[in-house]
Amino acid sequence: MDRIVEKTIKNLEKHHFEVFYFEDLEKLKEKVKDYLKIYDSFSFGGSTTLVQTKLKDLIIENGKKYIERIAGDDEEKKIESERAALLSDIYFMSTNAVSSTGALINIDKRGNRIGALIFGPKKVVVIASTNKITKDIDSGIERAKNIAAVSNCKRFNLHTPCVNLQRCVDCEHEENICYTTVITKRSFPHKRIAVLLFEGNYGF
Ligand code: SF4
Repeated sequence: MDRIVEKTIKNLEKHHFEVFYFEDLEKLKEKVKDYLKIYDSFSFGGSTTLVQTKLKDLIIENGKKYIERIAGDDEEKKIESERAALLSDIYFMSTNAVSSTGALINIDKRGNRIGALIFGPKKVVVIASTNKITKDIDSGIERAKNIAAVSNCKRFNLHTPCVNLQRCVDCEHEENICYTTVITKRSFPHKRIAVLLFEGNYGF
């Protein structure tokens, strides 16, 4: 295990996160199945990592009661489903960055994902490959802006300046997706937030 990964685990634990590290994605999947045996309802925050690893499919197949986020143009229905997800027993997401100093860094527009991270679900499981580890919180914010947010703007075919410039310019564009930045420095209640780190390069 790299020294930066070791340091990250040690500091996350010091900050009361529940932490697991996997060299092998298959072992991580077993851990996710174990969580699904304990909790009834489950939901997700939008996550490329969960899609690329097929963990989203695995969770839907093995979980008990799916509180599904409704996509589409009906804003009222969408918000109601996001509100319901906040009361799921267990919530799965990734993170834009995890600092080796033991913090999670995330940027959202709607706030449904970071809302659940902060409060609501009994358990939050953050699944992140080691490429998301940064030296400290400042470099985590840089990663969240210049890698995660820029990649999401591309993914959604937006016209924000970062798509062409390949970097964030803290724009005022009407399609800006960077409304709220959240830095989670500790887990309360202790171990409510689990961080499942695994070797690899997934998501943004
Ligand atoms: S603030 Fe604007 S330029 Fe920066 S990543 Fe977000 S959308 Fe792109």
